[in-house]
Amino acid sequence: MTSADSTSFDVLILGGGSGGYACALRSAELGLTVGLIDKDKLGGTCLHRGCIPTKALLHAAEVADSSRESAHFGVNTTLQGIDMPKVNEYRDGVVGRLYKGLQGLVKSRDVNFIEGEGKLVGPNSIEVNGTVYTGKNVVLATGSYAKSIPGLEITGKIMTSDQALDLDYVPSSVIVLGGGVIGVEFASVWKSFGSDVTIVEGLPHLVPNEDEACSKALERAYRKRGINFILGTKFASATQDANGVHVTLEDGKTLDADLLLVAIGRGPSTDGMGYEAQGVAMERGWVLVDDRLRTNVPNVYAVGDITPGLQLAHRGFQHGIFVAEEIAGMNPIMIEDINIPKVTYCEPEVASVGMTEAQAKAQYGEDVVAYEYNLGGNGKSQILGTAGFIKLVQKKDGPVIGIHMVGSRVGEQIGEAQLIVNWEATPDDVAALIHAHPTQNEAMGEAHLALAGKPLHAHA
Ligand SMILES: Cc1cc2nc3c(=O)[nH]c(=O)nc-3n(C[C@H](O)[C@H](O)[C@H](O)COP(=O)(O)OP(=O)(O)OC[C@H]3O[C@@H](n4cnc5c(N)ncnc54)[C@H](O)[C@@H]3O)c2cc1C
Repeated sequence: MTSADSTSFDVLILGGGSGGYACALRSAELGLTVGLIDKDKLGGTCLHRGCIPTKALLHAAEVADSSRESAHFGVNTTLQGIDMPKVNEYRDGVVGRLYKGLQGLVKSRDVNFIEGEGKLVGPNSIEVNGTVYTGKNVVLATGSYAKSIPGLEITGKIMTSDQALDLDYVPSSVIVLGGGVIGVEFASVWKSFGSDVTIVEGLPHLVPNEDEACSKALERAYRKRGINFILGTKFASATQDANGVHVTLEDGKTLDADLLLVAIGRGPSTDGMGYEAQGVAMERGWVLVDDRLRTNVPNVYAVGDITPGLQLAHRGFQHGIFVAEEIAGMNPIMIEDINIPKVTYCEPEVASVGMTEAQAKAQYGEDVVAYEYNLGGNGKSQILGTAGFIKLVQKKDGPVIGIHMVGSRVGEQIGEAQLIVNWEATPDDVAALIHAHPTQNEAMGEAHLALAGKPLHAHA
């Protein structure tokens, strides 16, 4: 795919993950010449080591749960076991097809894909394998890596999501360090596959960045599923031997398991890439940008996980598209982090957009109304046998500024939720619209009907 003769472009992008390739595709669409550099596979973390492979595992986990629980629906099946190599084959098939499609897209839009490790060697130039490429505009998009705790070496049975995705067996027991998105998703998969799982989280709740009501509902659901968790307790140390891993917590408690998954967050991949040497302003490894995603160096932008904020693929897509349009002089609009939709794809799912009740109250004091519609009143949720709710946070007499959901498949409702919040719709605006029966989406309508003062399948 490399175009050997061209070394100068309108837009030169370092990193072909969600942020970088979105920027490449949109720039090319706008008639700009594009060089896209990656040392690994086009598609980055999301496609090869993140969103897609984990969601394939979560789907296989859902199939396992359905088989195990099928007698409840009068369908008698026996779950004979989990064939991990076969699960991985299915997952790799999904990733492989998307990878092929993405390669085709990049090629068809005449993006010059340059394979190799790049280093910023001037304010508008990047060196790859001894060749210096230049861009009128340079976009830094080198993403993130799985962090560990100082002194806790990632090796053998102590692993991050990168190695956990490559396992060809189901561990009989796992300790998951970190109750954030990645931690609770892996915990969910392993529990469905039959492992004994314990999550250790230093903060007082699982998914601590969510509205507290969602965290508590997930904790109730995990308790019911038999997923163990220890909250508000910090990790102290871990060792491993032929029998497995042995973890000690700061309160002196010890835990043993086959594996330890370290899921304590992701740091920016910026080390040794020449950013600091070229004068790019950084803070603890993150590349600092202004509200137009410009670094302090003229015509050098940064997108995606290397910028401080939410680490999500669709934030990367937005950043990439934004920068392409900004370069093309289109004055695009940016959705701020708080209003970016978030989904945690564990069972049950957690999905949210906008302010939590606590954030809204911190900003608007008592001028905040919160309402929870319980999925117990929703026909489709009853059919699926899931519990949960849709919680709305409204600025009093004004728009809905936060939507927070828990329940099987509620991630599918995030599309309408983000439209409501970003369109600044009021409960009356939404209550006037129709939600098809019987869908889980009706719960979204019911919640707004109730907040508009005209509840249907809910108590006032
Ligand atoms: C287990 C897991 C599950 C996730 N699930 C979800 C999810 O469900 N939904 C969601 O929205 N997000 C999810 N994410 C987060 C998502 O993957 C990231 O937010 C997204 O990939 C960030 O995109 P990016 O372009 O900033 O970086 P990346 O995707 O990390 O891409 C960076 C690219 O830069 C390349 N690169 C780095 N340094 C160099 C160099 N010096 N030279 C050349 N190339 C270089 C890398 O090879 C890589 O391809 C998940 C992440 C993980 C780890």
